[in-house]
Amino acid sequence: MSAGKTGKPSGKAAAAQDRANEGSPAAAKALARESAAAAQDVAAGDASGAGTAQSPEALAARLRSEIEQHNYRYYVEDDPTVDDAVYDRLMRALQTLETEHPELITPESPTQRVGAAPSAAFASVRHAVPMLSLGNAFEAEDVAAFDKRVGDTLRGAGMLGAADETAYFCELKLDGLAISLRYEDGVLVQAATRGDGQTGEDVTSNIRTIKIIPVKLKGRAPRVLEVRGEVLMNRSDFDKMNDAQRKRGEKVFVNPRNAAAGSLRQLDSQITATRNLRFFAYGWGEVQGLPRDTDAAFEEPAPGVAAAAELPYDTHGEMLGWLAELGFPVNTRHNHMAQGEDGLLAFYEHVRTLRPTLPYDIDGVVYKVDALPAQKVLGFVARAPRFALAHKYPAEEATTTLEAIEVQVGRTGAITPVARLAPVFVGGVTVTNATLHNEDEIRRKDVRIGDTVIVRRAGDVIPEVVGPVLEKRPKDATEFVMVKQCPVCGSAIERPEDETIARCTGGLFCAAQRKQTLLHAAGRKALDIEGLGERLVDQLVDNDRVKSLADLYSLKSLELASYDRLGKKSADNLIEAIDRAREPALSRLLFALGIRHVGETTARDVARTFGSMEAIMDADEDALLTVPDVGPVVAGSIRRFFAEAHNREIVHELTKQGVHPKPDEAPVGNRLDGKTLVLTGTMPTWTRDEATRYVLAAGGKVSGSVSKKTAYVVAGEDAGSKLTKAQELGVTVLDEEGLKALLGM
Ligand code: NAD
Repeated sequence: MSAGKTGKPSGKAAAAQDRANEGSPAAAKALARESAAAAQDVAAGDASGAGTAQSPEALAARLRSEIEQHNYRYYVEDDPTVDDAVYDRLMRALQTLETEHPELITPESPTQRVGAAPSAAFASVRHAVPMLSLGNAFEAEDVAAFDKRVGDTLRGAGMLGAADETAYFCELKLDGLAISLRYEDGVLVQAATRGDGQTGEDVTSNIRTIKIIPVKLKGRAPRVLEVRGEVLMNRSDFDKMNDAQRKRGEKVFVNPRNAAAGSLRQLDSQITATRNLRFFAYGWGEVQGLPRDTDAAFEEPAPGVAAAAELPYDTHGEMLGWLAELGFPVNTRHNHMAQGEDGLLAFYEHVRTLRPTLPYDIDGVVYKVDALPAQKVLGFVARAPRFALAHKYPAEEATTTLEAIEVQVGRTGAITPVARLAPVFVGGVTVTNATLHNEDEIRRKDVRIGDTVIVRRAGDVIPEVVGPVLEKRPKDATEFVMVKQCPVCGSAIERPEDETIARCTGGLFCAAQRKQTLLHAAGRKALDIEGLGERLVDQLVDNDRVKSLADLYSLKSLELASYDRLGKKSADNLIEAIDRAREPALSRLLFALGIRHVGETTARDVARTFGSMEAIMDADEDALLTVPDVGPVVAGSIRRFFAEAHNREIVHELTKQGVHPKPDEAPVGNRLDGKTLVLTGTMPTWTRDEATRYVLAAGGKVSGSVSKKTAYVVAGEDAGSKLTKAQELGVTVLDEEGLKALLGM
């Protein structure tokens, strides 16, 4: 903000940079580590033989020019050519260099500026209050340094007690683009992008097409109000939009952020209107002329963000509450107050687990000092406030080379094309394989071998290939051709006309299917044979020792111990686990057989209805259709499975090997006898619907709120206020296992 327009390195800017870096040892370390990699990125992007030793001035100039080009592609064209991790590395390298050589800092350096100059295609709008960026942290140590810096300043200013912790308002860092909405006398008069922070682009007519943004405020509005927030696109809308674009042969966007930016920065607002854009408010700019009966906490205009502000409240949280009352969408569901460093890190961890379940992308969380007078004291550095910090998560997307496409054979013979990738760090791990789902998906995404591709890994989800970077497609990129024969057993591969999945027709003759079937059968929800892992199954099948599930039961400890890496003790334990699995519940054995469409719940329902394996094997389709929730697809699948002689043979072999399933205990109608249960949080195996069905079947009731009359609260992961209430009222709390025990399951 204070950086001059021209001139040599300003002392002010250098001092600001120093302050921005002060007390952040982890950042300094990370920067040093990354500068080498960034220099390589620069060299890689330059054909003129860079990478040779060069002066700090020359390196700074090269980094700046590279960053400026990326800024232009990202902010102006909404079409970046490198992923954010590469960009962040370049930026951090420049910051390191400038920290080591403060004399190199110029006001024009990207480290001192925000975004990129607005595009000439739009009318420009001068922001009454600048729109800044945020300081970034990747490591917990940087958060600690931030909290310490804030605490020290506030204590020094007498705004925080010696033993007190700073109160922060924590938000999600939404991955869209920032927008400023100006209302005069309660009516939307102008909307502008951030641009370079001082001047943005006028996108008023486009913003008017976003239904969630009020054109007229509710209640009594101030004379002038600028609301700031993020315009974004849900991932599902992004996928739909890209599919439609692809069908029309039009431009596809690399991610929802760029799609949101590209959709908003359209010259034709009718196009914007067709894109499902969303908005969340998280701040404000100019505020003038509050309605008379509102208490103004700030009598005097404050510098910085509050420069043109006359605000009705003195905390950030209350201000957002006010914006919500005026009709703006505010992310109240996830916003949260936290105290001190521990509170911030707990929020970060909480949101990390939440991230894959959100409908939109976030790239971190934002911590803001809640008290506005404290924000005023903390002030700003060149491009960001000192009272706020963006704590980022590892990028969920990265680009790499698709080296080959191989196919894998699953338990039911499904053939899945798998991308073999040049190793790439994404979502916090190094990824070398990613699923491509099926043949149609490869065509739809137009992914070719040799392409540079975008890889996504969100949470613990299996990494997937999002799509190619077409600009980087080499001439010799080749299309994928589905194999005609199973690469494992040589059987024909078939793909029924109405299905997307190609399958190996080898059945249990196919070693790959046999291996997967055995691993499935040994799983926790099936026969629960602990210790039967992938490596051992590979050897047992490859040596033809185990041809079917029944063969497992004939294994002896002694022979097992001869297998690679299996000690005597592990072999004994495994044999014990197999022995324990000689009397499984009928439903578990049925599930273990791996019949298509027969999941854990269906297996249980079928087992309860028929009571024995023989009865299930002999049931015709009509009989199967009497089982709750079993329709023609499932019934047909069970029929076809047992119509195969070799599958019936496996069941007979199992009996010969001494496997005798017990009938499943039906939930007894009166076990819960009118008792009321409350279900909260996520259970490890049951969905809420499943649990509800069982409770009802056992004569219980399910309620949404906890009271003294509640008999049990069943709490899964992330259980919230209901669990707290149960503890307060002394209501018995159970987990899923506890509920199953109660139901006699
Ligand atoms: P930033 O995105 O790291 O942080 C500032 C922005 O966060 C704000 O402008 C606002 O839009 C947003 N934000 C989201 N939620 C918010 C909340 N709750 N409160 C306040 N602000 C919130 O900084 P930046 O300067 O906008 O962009 C830099 C980043 O953009 C880089 O780290 C990089 O990831 C990406 N980038 C990538 C390329 C590329 O070529 N791939 C180029 C330029 C920038």
